[in-house]
Amino acid sequence: MKFYSTKQKNKLVSCRDAILKGIPDDGGLFMPVNIAKIPPEFFNRISNLSFQEISFEVAKNLLRNAIPHKILKDIITEALNFNAPILPLNDNLFVLELFHGPTLAFKDFAARFMAYTMAYLIGNTNKKLNVLVATSGDTGSAVAHGFYNTPGIRVIILYPTKKISEIQEKQITTLEGNIIALEVKGTFDNCQALVKKAFLDSELSNKLWLTSANSINVARLIPQSFYYFYAYAQLKNKDLPVVFSVPSGNFGNLTGGLFAKIMGLPVSKFIAANNVNNNVHKYLKTGIFKPQPAIKTISNAMDVGNPSNFARILDIYDNSVEKMRNDIYGASFSDEQTKNAISEVYNKYNYILDPHSAVGYLGLKEYFSEVKFQGKGIFCATAHPAKFSNIVEEIIDRKVEIPLRLKKYLDRDKKSILISKDFEDFKDFLLSLSN
Ligand SMILES: *Cc1c(COP(=O)(O)O)cnc(C)c1O
Repeated sequence: MKFYSTKQKNKLVSCRDAILKGIPDDGGLFMPVNIAKIPPEFFNRISNLSFQEISFEVAKNLLRNAIPHKILKDIITEALNFNAPILPLNDNLFVLELFHGPTLAFKDFAARFMAYTMAYLIGNTNKKLNVLVATSGDTGSAVAHGFYNTPGIRVIILYPTKKISEIQEKQITTLEGNIIALEVKGTFDNCQALVKKAFLDSELSNKLWLTSANSINVARLIPQSFYYFYAYAQLKNKDLPVVFSVPSGNFGNLTGGLFAKIMGLPVSKFIAANNVNNNVHKYLKTGIFKPQPAIKTISNAMDVGNPSNFARILDIYDNSVEKMRNDIYGASFSDEQTKNAISEVYNKYNYILDPHSAVGYLGLKEYFSEVKFQGKGIFCATAHPAKFSNIVEEIIDRKVEIPLRLKKYLDRDKKSILISKDFEDFKDFLLSLSN
């Protein structure tokens, strides 16, 4: 499998280069050259396969021989060693729980698969690979855990001081070892700007082997197609049309779903559910895309004003809004609506949603009523409600139990390095690292 840049379709690179580089030099995004359909025979037996078995079949189909199959199988078995169950809320409404990984958010799928894959791809070398990642919370914790103790790889996480939750900060700052937490005196945008600038700095790239773990890396999208197949596999009645509602920020999760559809998964529609950061919803309505500064909401992992994967989605649909509309239905919701949805689902189904998953639920609910949809609807629950207990508990007026794997971080001591938002400070720090 080869990859092209969305900005230069005729210049192909290997899977290894695409994943280890992260971003093409021309500033585009890597995309697989051709995503083949999985033979129909696979769908006849899909109901009897485990999540890992399905993931392996899908990964083989997508990556061809880029990674030896035996190794690919080991990567999947070790990286994706947790479940992605669907749970019926009623006959036609299902929640796909994507928060059973170590950091309780769906980003665990991507981060762990990427870590294991990169560890294989760097092979035995004396050079250290430095993975830079800017985070507003969830990405950093998932990446830190995915790469923890990975030989040959060092992870440098930049997060905005005092702007992430206590649990998120503890998940990033208490691992140590090959995980370095840089606490930046600035905003998430400052963190992201520092990372971007580091890649453009020739002195740094000459001295250090750098790559990115933000959602632009194509290795993060690949595993995000697996659970759509597995969700479908778990449906007892597969005769009715199926739609997925995806709470979206940078649109990596939804792009994974589109890969699944291209590979032949029978999905009649994806619902792109946004909070008020809704310029993709506006694009679907008007055909005009305007990036905007992010607005703060209670579903903060989706507070994205210029979604990084949107260029990939445009690429898939040849820049045609009509084609995109055939597959994607847009919707967006306020914090008020999100809170009401958490309350509604709790009272009606005795199920607790986190604010992001609640936006996914709202997207699906709107779709059912707006188009009189008669089929099966599945929405992604992207985080465990305990990660956002401060918001959720007030709405449902009861405690949310914190799973043990989350609780254990709260007792550990934070270890971070405070830096300013000036690039020179960040650069000096990077140059001080040994190779
Ligand atoms: C990152 C994140 C999202 C948004 O996913 P994208 O792939 O960026 O669209 C939604 N919910 C949670 C909990 C997240 O952490």
